[in-house]
Amino acid sequence: MPRCVVTRRVHFNAAHRLYNPRFSDAENERVFGVCNNPNFHGHNYSLDVSVEGEIDSQTGYVLDINRLKQIVTDCLVCHLDHKNLNLDVPWFRDVIPTAENIAVICWRVLEPRLLPARLSRIRLWETERNYVDYDGT
Ligand SMILES: [Zn+2]
Repeated sequence: MPRCVVTRRVHFNAAHRLYNPRFSDAENERVFGVCNNPNFHGHNYSLDVSVEGEIDSQTGYVLDINRLKQIVTDCLVCHLDHKNLNLDVPWFRDVIPTAENIAVICWRVLEPRLLPARLSRIRLWETERNYVDYDGT
């Protein structure tokens, strides 16, 4: 059977501060710049979740995209939307909530929930111009 990659885009709004407690204030300022603002700042994130697999001969789907949407909403969006990533979300207790780290955590949370479909890529847009891709490696 032919194989396809199917992608669903979801959105969430969240605040964060990029800050490494092992750095001095001056180092944090130098490394993270405005993203080190002590009172946090927000982003309107977009998250593209791509799954890859064979097209099922009975349904014509790789994975029902409504089911994908539901899983992504339940596993990720509900935990991230309108949250302060540093303060509200335990996943980031010891992880700096950069776009890179958010993408990796999204992968780790989501991947086991999608089986037997195979998660092939997480693309996290932090701004209209900046995004990161993670493929599980
Ligand atoms: Zn930021």
